[in-house]
Amino acid sequence: MIGRIYLDNAATTGTDTEVLNEMLPYFMESFGNPSSIYSFSRDNRIALERSRGQVARAINAEPAEIYFTGGGTESDNWALKGAAFARRGSRGHIITTMIEHHAILHSAEFLAGMGYDVTYLPVDEEGRIDLKELEGAFREDTFLVSVMFANNEIGTIQPVSEIGRLCKKRNVLFHTDAVQAVGHIPIDVKAMHIDMLSLSAHKFHGPKGVGALFIRRGVKIENFIHGGGQEKGRRASTENVPGIVGLGKALEISIQRIGTESARQSMLRDRLIKGILETIPYARLNGPGEDGRLPNNVNFSFIGVEGETLILDLDEAGISASTGSACSSGSLDPSHVLLAIGLDHAHSHGSLRMTLGTCTSENDIDYVLDTLPAIISRRREMSPLWEDFLRNEKKVTI
Ligand code: PLP
Repeated sequence: MIGRIYLDNAATTGTDTEVLNEMLPYFMESFGNPSSIYSFSRDNRIALERSRGQVARAINAEPAEIYFTGGGTESDNWALKGAAFARRGSRGHIITTMIEHHAILHSAEFLAGMGYDVTYLPVDEEGRIDLKELEGAFREDTFLVSVMFANNEIGTIQPVSEIGRLCKKRNVLFHTDAVQAVGHIPIDVKAMHIDMLSLSAHKFHGPKGVGALFIRRGVKIENFIHGGGQEKGRRASTENVPGIVGLGKALEISIQRIGTESARQSMLRDRLIKGILETIPYARLNGPGEDGRLPNNVNFSFIGVEGETLILDLDEAGISASTGSACSSGSLDPSHVLLAIGLDHAHSHGSLRMTLGTCTSENDIDYVLDTLPAIISRRREMSPLWEDFLRNEKKVTI
């Protein structure tokens, strides 16, 4: 084994040293409250605005359109609830998809409980929505479409520009949860007609617990956290200055290396996918092939293997990865994303997600390819499900 191999970068990433160094002075040296008017706080105010500029530049927005939040979940909650509450009592209709992160799905469910109507668009077997289906779902009272930029489990990238164009034509707000996409693939909120966009620092080597919501100038959404005048009074609370500084720096670095990193990670991703398909029988790739997939995402189902067990076996071999099955979070429900792309329960329970990062090397990929096939075959040998599966396969082929 060659040290720990971390392949769960969609769950979170380590903070870059350069990012940490940029944050450190704001803990003990320049710790003033940015709202204070004395000169000691000036550095903090400047740092906040520098970060706002860095985030804006990364997605082609204006600095005044960036609002700092406590992470991706908060940004998603604000976008949905803020758009709904701005209607001041008149309910209405929201369109989203069946494969969103729970930050969106549970916010939508909450609003449905308050009387808003929600349509959950289905997706095809690769996880993509059908634009015709979106067009057919619009109603007179549709006020918001929320479709994720890229899926956190299977890496599917949605046709965001086309969705933006359809929403613009109908004067409907378009929000995208871009938590897995920002810093990994190019985004231009103007060209893509995006009205609101959620992002989170810890997905691109920034610190945890800090994110941002882009709100296009002119978009009417309700303020989210009531209190002081921070973030123009729309998201009150003393700013997390070190975190915000880290967010800006991490995004600046990610954007500088986005071309080389996405090419490098795509190459490693494809090598891993090819290697698994060649060495493990009945391995099912979840999500799209090379096109339209996040550069860092690999997701497979292995019939006859429990996702949870596989994660523990890999852990023992020094590899950190994750499973789409939600067992690890205390529930036995299979992943809603894998069910939505048409997998049966057996395949959904045997899924493995490996997400690459800036630290992933060719040696790491080789080690996984050397290790994984033996783990899968050992688990399958012990599995009654696998025996049944093989028996049925034989019946079909005879
Ligand atoms: N949206 C997506 C697509 C995510 O993958 C995640 C985190 O995994 C979130 C939202 C939540 O972000 P945070 O952990 O910053 O609250």
